[in-house]
Parts: sequence; C-alpha cells; structure tokens
Amino acid sequence: MTGPRVPGDGDRLELPCGESVAVTDLDMGMREFDCDCGAVHAVVVDVHPLSRFVPEAIVETLRATVETADDAPEFSMAHLMGIVLEEFPEQVAAEDVSDDGAVGYAMVWVAEFDARRLHEIAVELIVELMEHAVSHAENDEAASQFEEQMLEFDVSAFVEQYRQEREFETEYDSPA
Ligand SMILES: [Zn+2]
Repeated sequence: MTGPRVPGDGDRLELPCGESVAVTDLDMGMREFDCDCGAVHAVVVDVHPLSRFVPEAIVETLRATVETADDAPEFSMAHLMGIVLEEFPEQVAAEDVSDDGAVGYAMVWVAEFDARRLHEIAVELIVELMEHAVSHAENDEAASQFEEQMLEFDVSAFVEQYRQEREFETEYDSPA
C-alpha cells in the first residue's frame, strides 16, 4: 500500500511496520537496515542474484525446472520475491521504482523481518518450488530421491553455513 505521492518528496516506501523509508536511501548493496521502529528489515532489489540465497548449481536447476508464468526468459529474483510477497502479504512491502533511473534497480522489497529470516524463507520456498517441479517431471525415481534428500535438508543449518562460507565482498554476489 502506498499513499498519494507528494510532489518533490521523492519516492517513499511505506513499510509493514508503519514507518516509511526514502527509496533513495535503499541502495543495491544493502541487505537490511535498522528502521526507526527498532526492527531490522531485510531489503532485496531485483538486481540481486538468486545466488544471494542458494548456490549457482541450485539456481541453474531452478531455471531448468521452474517455468515462469510471465514472459520473463528465466526464473529471477523478481519471481522469487513475488512468491515471498504472496506468502507474506502483510509483512513485505514492494515498490516498482523503474521510473526512477537514479537508484539502479527496478523493484525493491522490504520485509518486516531481517535478512537472515528472509534467507530462510527464500530457501524454504525454493525447496518447495523444486519439489513441485520434480513431482511433475514424471520421473518417480527422481521425485522420491529428491524427497528423501529434502527430508534430511536442514534449512536453518544450510542458511547458517551459506552465510558463513560465501564471500561478502561485492553487492552482486553476497548472501545476506
Ligand atoms: Zn520498521
């Protein structure tokens, strides 16, 4: 939900907590920020690679198995965040800022929860997507194999390890 724009005020994103933040304050190197409400909110922009959340190998599998509903050539961060938004409509704010050339990204999402929690949610949703894709692949063996692997999959442990192992150096390839 966005209120009426005040001319000259710049784009402000209304946050789920009731505060708002200037879009220009959210740069693409940001993964979360301290809000005036006292909470830390996760930030995602569409130019963040999916490898922010899962390894490239999984991103490739996702792209090979998950069909996008729109005209996009492949599964992207925008698709993933669209699903997050569907699951948590009250806790995620999204804004299309594609008409603002200055910020360097076209879409921004801010969650009520922090980047670590968002990471876990993203991984859970990616696992569900892949499970769904595998179950429709008409390959029972692959499906049951995948399900077996997923039974042992510990999202929290994965996220912990992924966040430790990855290089945090560039804004284009860092988990958060
Ligand atoms: Zn807040």
